[in-house]
Amino acid sequence: MKTLQNLIGGVWDDSLGDALLDVVNPATEDVIARAPGGSKADVDRAVAAAVRAQPAWAALPVAQRVARISAWADVIAEHADELAALECREMGKPIGIGRAFIDGAVAGLKASAAQALSYGFEEDLAQHDGGATTILRHPLGATAVITPWNFPVPLVLGALGPLLAAGNTVVVKPSERSPLSTVRLFELLNLPPGVVNLILGDARAGAPLAEHEQIQLVHFTGSVDAGRKVAAATGRLLHRAVLELGGKDPVVVDAGVDPKATAAAVAFGAFINTGQICTSMERVYVHQDIAGEFVEALVEAAGTFTMGDGRDEGVMMGPLVDEGQREIVRRHVADAVERGATIRAGGVEPDGKGFFYPATVLTGVDESMLVMTEETFGPLAPVVVVSSFEEGLERASGSRFGLAATVYTDDPAHVAAAAQIPAGVVWVNQWQGGGPERLYEPAGDSGMGATGAAAAYDAATRPASLHIAARPAS
Ligand code: NAD
Repeated sequence: MKTLQNLIGGVWDDSLGDALLDVVNPATEDVIARAPGGSKADVDRAVAAAVRAQPAWAALPVAQRVARISAWADVIAEHADELAALECREMGKPIGIGRAFIDGAVAGLKASAAQALSYGFEEDLAQHDGGATTILRHPLGATAVITPWNFPVPLVLGALGPLLAAGNTVVVKPSERSPLSTVRLFELLNLPPGVVNLILGDARAGAPLAEHEQIQLVHFTGSVDAGRKVAAATGRLLHRAVLELGGKDPVVVDAGVDPKATAAAVAFGAFINTGQICTSMERVYVHQDIAGEFVEALVEAAGTFTMGDGRDEGVMMGPLVDEGQREIVRRHVADAVERGATIRAGGVEPDGKGFFYPATVLTGVDESMLVMTEETFGPLAPVVVVSSFEEGLERASGSRFGLAATVYTDDPAHVAAAAQIPAGVVWVNQWQGGGPERLYEPAGDSGMGATGAAAAYDAATRPASLHIAARPAS
């Protein structure tokens, strides 16, 4: 079986480390590839290549950088089916869902790169003392993008647009659990050598990359634990980090909404991608006036989420990414049941190969249970009945995480109140809306650093002021 290689300075090459990792198809449990475990030596080579390539890349006119990135996006679009099939094999996502997210990410890459054309890389300010000040926004230099396994292609593309268009070069380290689609993405790369480099591995590659003194910014997406380590490393170096971390996103369902339609929407938010989305709905608060009908409908909707190998047509949910992830889901369900919760749908794993777990609805849940406090990252919808919308909001706001929150309500006053939930995004009557221009910063343990719109360019550049006054005259 072929071992995957790194892409350094435009050349595919073997890792300098000895460790090898299996890449496993979670639907079949077959080993489908071998990847390097990663090493500091690989990181050093990749960073050196990124540092070497950066001045020439930054010297290109902005419009040329944008055109080059856009041309790569066009090539990726032509291979979207192939990339979605690879994501399906390496992490189980049904091909149709993978394809939709890749299409969105390619459009997002183009749109976010094109924002460079209107970004203020150079702005003149008139000064009260008669001088002239120009604000120059310089690229940072060599940067890093570290991604998790749940959206391998979209999360790499989502980070790259502003970093590259601003004139930075990048070393990308994808998750060791899903490297195949990212490798293919970089086989399609048509940017100058060294502008984007790829190194494979786990923390053995991620940690030395995050703490490399020539990496000026780390754009990290992943767990809170690893995010804290990245922040500690970049903090020591006084370098930048943008951290997109985990969540325990709430959904609040008000009295007065259609219980069936809303239950179908909540099922989608909780179960799609087998609950393995950072903004999956993981806590459900429903108003007592509609709770009975809502729960019945949620149970019914859960039954429609058929499991299977995501290559098969009609499959709604693939497997969990691996046995470790399934063990977390099992542990959260067992803890909830032990403390008095009831399994209303799902909860029973199918026989046979694959890390499958069914769409599961829990009632009789309280806030002390793991399923309400820790990120599950699985297809669980734990439901708490609340006596008022205000109680729902209060509970929704009482988490250490703050990635996103969703509210279903017809009441404009309740919309205004929901806007105060401490989260990066609050969706009302819709889940996952908004484009790349959406601006937000995760709250609490869910991360730091604003994302979207001009904020990504602000993060990708360092402002400096050039102040020119009249020369001294005698
Ligand atoms: P993870 O933290 O285990 O790994 C993420 C990446 O970090 C991987 O590439 C991994 O190899 C690397 N890594 C691990 N230890 C590291 C270290 N010490 N230094 C540097 N890099 C290190 O996360 P995961 O299990 O791959 O992904 C799931 C998590 O990602 C969930 O918590 C999920 O909520 C989160 N996530 C967040 C977002 C978001 O936008 N906020 C999006 C997707 C996933």
